[in-house]
Amino acid sequence: MTANLLGFDLDGLAAFCERLGEKRFRAVQLLRWMHQHGESRFDQMSDLARSLREKLPGLCEVRALPVLAQQESADGTIKWLFDVGDGNAVETVFIPEEGRGTLCISSQAGCAVGCRFCSTGAQGFSRNLSTAEIVAQLWFAEHFLRRHLGHQERGLSERVISNVVLMGMGEPLQNYAALLPALRLMLDDHGYGLSRRRVTVSTSGVVPMIERLAADCPVALAVSLHAPTDALRDELVPLNRKYPIAELLDACLAYLPRAPRDFITFEYCMLDGVNDQDLHAEQLIALLQGHRGQGVPCKVNLIPFNPFPASGLRCSSRARVLSFAQRLNAAGLVTTVRKTRGDDIDAACGQLAGEVLDRTGVSERREQQAALANPQPVIWRKPPEKVS
Ligand code: SF4
Repeated sequence: MTANLLGFDLDGLAAFCERLGEKRFRAVQLLRWMHQHGESRFDQMSDLARSLREKLPGLCEVRALPVLAQQESADGTIKWLFDVGDGNAVETVFIPEEGRGTLCISSQAGCAVGCRFCSTGAQGFSRNLSTAEIVAQLWFAEHFLRRHLGHQERGLSERVISNVVLMGMGEPLQNYAALLPALRLMLDDHGYGLSRRRVTVSTSGVVPMIERLAADCPVALAVSLHAPTDALRDELVPLNRKYPIAELLDACLAYLPRAPRDFITFEYCMLDGVNDQDLHAEQLIALLQGHRGQGVPCKVNLIPFNPFPASGLRCSSRARVLSFAQRLNAAGLVTTVRKTRGDDIDAACGQLAGEVLDRTGVSERREQQAALANPQPVIWRKPPEKVS
């Protein structure tokens, strides 16, 4: 298969051009054509030397991901399901808001972390996405939306997507090698020119890679916390057994001096009777304000759980979510409740992919393989924590 130019950041593309005997500025031209103009046809890239325009088609291409499904909500939210081959599919979601447009993209097909409240985790891990497959989600969405919203006809040149969150399927920091060039391309003025503050990596807590990200490409960081104690987090986010909360919060503190924002966002999925009691709120306040005697500068984002079949979990009531938020805010923790968007099309992250894969029988085969490899059934076993 020929090289996919969507998989290169500027340095990577410059090295590719160099191997063709071309100067670095050709890489800049190519990046601008691809990412700023959405152009995939080399013969349309009018300022490239003719010899290069003729040479490139045999060597490389700008290869988009096939779209398996597109769902559009009445509120403007759009969800795409992209085919990444071998029966795998990943989801990408565009969320329009006043003054900004956020794209939530996937970094892996499936996920190995296996969070108990996550539909993607329930499907198991299939494979890492390549840089090209991560970038292709942004490339497609940005240029589709410009056409869809009629930007060209209205003479608008600004981007539709102002924010990117790596919060779709997969744990981005477990696919770091592919993630890093993708992030650099998002920030590059010749690529998408997004501010570091507007690109967010969301992690379940891969501590060593948080340190790497701080050194290599510090963007905004969101941490999927979901529990205030190790005992509960071990059950909800199994990665906690490897990197417990104290280590995770230490990594957050170390990240902050390099971070583009002066706080970390902690995501907290509200699960009825599991992590949503007053005691949990008090434990969370003590944890985030008391860690190492100084606390972690942060914002807390409460996420109403989006139920999916077989999770065995329910979303906390609206009253409980608001009461939990109010308790945190009253203690001085800035806390927001995520608005549910795209209700009419929505499903838990990973659910659309799961449904499509189920139709092909891939999930079933994967479950059978997993059962053979690991005879322990992966089921929800933890009863709601007692509030004493
Ligand atoms: S919440 Fe994120 S890290 Fe956890 S299983 Fe789902 S995709 Fe993986």
